[in-house]
Amino acid sequence: MRSYSLAAPGKINLHLEILGDRPDGYHELAMILQSIELSDIVTITPLSTEAIRLHCNHNQVPLNKDNLAFKAAELMVAKFPAAFAQWGGVEITIEKNLPVAAGLAGGSSNAAAVIVGLNLLWDLGLTQPQLQELGAGIGSDVPFCISGGTAIATGRGETLDNLVTPPEIYVLLAKYRSLAVSTAWAYQTYRQQFSHTYPPDSQALAARKTKLSETDLLQTIAHQDLDRLGKSLYNDLEKVVLPAHSQVAKLRQTLESFPNSGVMMSGSGPTVFALCSSQQQGEELQRQLKAALPEPDLEIWVTKFNSGGVKVIS
Ligand code: ATP
Repeated sequence: MRSYSLAAPGKINLHLEILGDRPDGYHELAMILQSIELSDIVTITPLSTEAIRLHCNHNQVPLNKDNLAFKAAELMVAKFPAAFAQWGGVEITIEKNLPVAAGLAGGSSNAAAVIVGLNLLWDLGLTQPQLQELGAGIGSDVPFCISGGTAIATGRGETLDNLVTPPEIYVLLAKYRSLAVSTAWAYQTYRQQFSHTYPPDSQALAARKTKLSETDLLQTIAHQDLDRLGKSLYNDLEKVVLPAHSQVAKLRQTLESFPNSGVMMSGSGPTVFALCSSQQQGEELQRQLKAALPEPDLEIWVTKFNSGGVKVIS
């Protein structure tokens, strides 16, 4: 029986709008998600014992049942007990290239890779929509991480409408290594501070939902207009994360002072990204940022838009 290595790409949010509360306690969201080429590598190897083992080269990643990749394997075992009994256990090795708790959906992407990998390893023959339905049971970002590319995500983030990925758009990512923001904290704080702005009933919520289809961003993605795309970036969570973390606000402001096509925080942060028209512009921006903020704790990557999600690499 063979092993599979899969690329598990991160994502950025080109648009993150909190529309209101849902009856299930989550927020109703309207987002545009974009996969990036920066990826973790998840390797799945069969084990002769009936166990799930997990390894990761990053000390902030839990190696127990809290790990989303582990949860995904447990879910697959529970859903397909006959395959587990037939094929045995699995060893999951995560090579972390994405920063952790960074707003880039690293954990969700690792879970997506385990679901896709076990479908292959156990010869289950599940379709992408079936894999995404399983993924939604682990986390709202997992279905997107499976298909990737560019998509409108609504509901809790799990309802997807795919868009065509604009080609050749580069992304600079910057994050303070020692700074992590909990996604749960960001959404709870937003609710505490802004729930008075939420629509009062389901009719008013439905009216707000139609707003995304009117935004300039969808048009600019369709027309592959990078400068307009950069001007249309939006993230409600900046309203709570930037005031709480002045370091991130300063990073964002510094990036904005150099030539690029648009700057925004991704998801619940604290990663800030800037859109660029070429690898060369991304690298120039990296040099300018390093010179302006010469702090060893600041990590910077240059990557690009990715038109897909989890992918088998060997
Ligand atoms: P999102 O954008 O989906 O909110 P994120 O990029 O902010 O995700 P992750 O890197 O997924 O955050 O990590 C969030 C927390 O989840 C971490 O603090 C870590 O304890 C936990 N975690 C569980 N599984 C993983 C995993 N496979 N990789 C990274 N973190 C994980």
